[in-house]
Amino acid sequence: MASVSIRNVVKAYGAAQVLHGVSVNAEDGEFVVLVGPSGCGKSTLLRMIAGLETITDGEIAIGDRVVNDLEPKERDIAMVFQSYALYPHMTVYDNMAFSLKLAKKSKADIASEVNRAAEILHLQPLLDRYPRQLSGGQRQRVAMGRAIVRNPAVFLFDEPLSNLDAKLRVQMRSEIKALHSRLGATMIYVTHDQMEAMTMADRIVVMRAGVIEQVGSPLDIYDQPANSFVASFIGSPAMNFLIGQVDATSAPVLVDAEGVRWPLPASARGLHGKSITAGIRPEHIALGDGPISGTLQSIEPTGAETHLVVHAGAHDLTVLTRDRLFGSIGSPMSVRTDVSQMILFDTTSGHRIGDIPS
Ligand code: ADP
Ligand code: MG
Repeated sequence: MASVSIRNVVKAYGAAQVLHGVSVNAEDGEFVVLVGPSGCGKSTLLRMIAGLETITDGEIAIGDRVVNDLEPKERDIAMVFQSYALYPHMTVYDNMAFSLKLAKKSKADIASEVNRAAEILHLQPLLDRYPRQLSGGQRQRVAMGRAIVRNPAVFLFDEPLSNLDAKLRVQMRSEIKALHSRLGATMIYVTHDQMEAMTMADRIVVMRAGVIEQVGSPLDIYDQPANSFVASFIGSPAMNFLIGQVDATSAPVLVDAEGVRWPLPASARGLHGKSITAGIRPEHIALGDGPISGTLQSIEPTGAETHLVVHAGAHDLTVLTRDRLFGSIGSPMSVRTDVSQMILFDTTSGHRIGDIPS
């Protein structure tokens, strides 16, 4: 097993730079998730760790070895992709055995490794089947099996669940997590899905446009986003943003484009006259009997909870509630934001205002 250190890594394709000096560590045995919108450079970074892309500048180390110039097969890693790319003419057993055969392992060693992986992944009853005789989830498990038999120091996953339906994704999420605690291996997992990142990661690395925006535990990132991009990307339904100017002549309020005055936390006292963005999560807004009057715009029941949109002042606010009884669409609905839960951002830079506890 091994840690992975990424130090000032740059990637350029010709004149186009797509990673702009990225530094992050995965500790030995850690489950690190790289998350960000499509095109932000997640796969490129993962492929550079794997040795499938050259490193334009900077350094990647696995354990205490700098691997920049090592071939993929010398790096002690195994990678699982979104497309499982199983060999269609080989059984499950042979698919999993393939890399071990290439490595000229003995028949007995191969059998013991494949059986170990099959047991971990509950694939024993399927070893004689061909990929076409498997469900999507089973194929995904075979792809993981091919990685496990190699006993790598580091597992790399690139959106491995994207081809599965929603229910199976949730199930595989917990299977991969269980696999991680069973194997104790370092895992680096790429996804665009913030929910996968939140539920699976020891630590999340949020990326945007070739830079790292924030690194932290899931709940630290949720509760203490470093900027409005991270705040909006992590969490579903997404955080609401109230945009306006601070009036702190008495208790501080944010005055929005419609002139509606939204209460702010006392910490906004020093921001008089500034243009700010106040972030408030949907679960931190209460409905009815609030100081701001609005109109109910939409109702989305999900069963356990309901998502509503209320138009108030210059804003459409998403509200998450466990209540089920509301007026009809278009009816008046007042709101109360929990100011103790507000997070303030500089509207221009997007940076969070105030100290971020580390
Ligand atoms: P992600 O996995 O986060 O969706 P990628 O790492 O695949 O993003 O891509 C990051 C950026 O690099 C994108 O803008 C993409 O178009 C660009 N890119 C990826 N591969 C190549 C390539 N072989 N040549 C040129 N540009 C590429
Ligand atoms: Mg990708």
